[in-house]
Amino acid sequence: MDIEDIKKELEQDPENADLNARLGWEYEKIKDYDSAVRHLNKAIENGFDAGHALIDIARIYENTGRYSEALGELGRASGLKADSLEIQMSLGRLCRETGDYAASGKYFKKAYEAVPAEDLFLKNKVLNEMEISQKKTVLASKVRGFGVNLSNKCDLRCKMCQIWKTPWDMPRKTIDEIIKLFPYIEVVFWQGGEVFLLDYFRDLFRKAASFPNLYQVIVTHGLLIDENWARDLTRANATLLYSVDSTEKQTYESIRKGADFDTLLRSIDLVNRHREVPRDKDCHGKFETAMNVVVMRSNYRELERFMDFAEERGFDHLHFLPIENVEGPENIFLNPEPGAAERIETAVSAITARSSGGRVRFYNWLPRINGQKSCCTGPEREKEQSSGESGKRNTACAEQALLCYWPWKHMFIEAEGWVRPYAICTGEYVGNVLDNSLQEIWNSEKMQEYRRSIIENRPQDICDPRCFSGVMSKECLGRSIG
Ligand code: SF4
Repeated sequence: MDIEDIKKELEQDPENADLNARLGWEYEKIKDYDSAVRHLNKAIENGFDAGHALIDIARIYENTGRYSEALGELGRASGLKADSLEIQMSLGRLCRETGDYAASGKYFKKAYEAVPAEDLFLKNKVLNEMEISQKKTVLASKVRGFGVNLSNKCDLRCKMCQIWKTPWDMPRKTIDEIIKLFPYIEVVFWQGGEVFLLDYFRDLFRKAASFPNLYQVIVTHGLLIDENWARDLTRANATLLYSVDSTEKQTYESIRKGADFDTLLRSIDLVNRHREVPRDKDCHGKFETAMNVVVMRSNYRELERFMDFAEERGFDHLHFLPIENVEGPENIFLNPEPGAAERIETAVSAITARSSGGRVRFYNWLPRINGQKSCCTGPEREKEQSSGESGKRNTACAEQALLCYWPWKHMFIEAEGWVRPYAICTGEYVGNVLDNSLQEIWNSEKMQEYRRSIIENRPQDICDPRCFSGVMSKECLGRSIG
């Protein structure tokens, strides 16, 4: 039942608690937060489970950066459901956001004690959140996310990519270590080279897909996806991230040398056909498709067409990334041409406006052509900016906020085995999988140094200047809510 159907039913029975709650949830989905809160409150007035609905209202306030109002609603919910794990976790996150790290640690501790020992995933997640709030530098919790470059093998020779020139294949011992960590992992990004060229990738993907809490993101040119892969992918908790650098056959094939545009379209259509097949009850999570666009001289004039293409072809999100590792004329950011900056800015503004409230979420990672370094201005950034309250802190007990959580949550393993906390970190490596186990790297001296420099608010010691310039979203710094 959609919003209009629910509204019609409510006209006949305006005080119906269930219908008001359902309408509130539907309004939340389309980001009409005031209407969502109004109907959830009306549901409570008419007898809907208040403990449940107050958590929903608090989540809406939390997601829109209205932390003090969220804390107020959670306080009311806590009076009704004091032992709720969800409430303790939300209170832990909110206290941390408002600078009360001590209270945050206590709420997470309470939540940790409530999680059964056999729930490995949740136990580790709560322990990790507690350790962030306690500002630990050596962690008992395990890593919660990976970015993994499995291999540099690729069958294309794209204009902007030289990766195939450096031989690299992830050693089996590291793949086995990653598999052992699957019970604790929330997200893993698989990338290459081209992962669908790897004969072991199907087994690896299926193994990961058997863990209900694990979300997989697969970065691919998409040209090798057949019926079997389309079926497996669309049944998984995953995002398939296509690299599409033009919506025009001629430009696409001139950028992605060796690729065939018609094969790309067939692949997207095939995946969409499989998405339409109802999922079995035992399929968990959700499947989405996304598009990565590397912006360069050859394609910057067609940026708005990528949004048309994304909408027409059913993509869920669209990412713009700058061309990197190329110094020649294709690098429009190093070698600007007259009018390009204005054209890109105009296109990005128009796409941002279209994505707001639309189906396709837009993430802009482009630098300004005037030399400013790239930053993420995805939905989370807008969310922070749209709220006047996200910066409000509990001044009675506010501590120095942690700028970034990636060194507490994530490891990114790139070609030749080098590890950073996250893909955007440009400082020193924290280890190499050829020399050390993942567990050793997780608490290595260098990883501790990242954590310490963030705790002591000295990110300039080791981190990328973009991260403390104030332009990065919470999401890009690993601080997204949830
Ligand atoms: S602040 Fe930036 S460079 Fe430092 S760990 Fe976080 S993402 Fe990496």
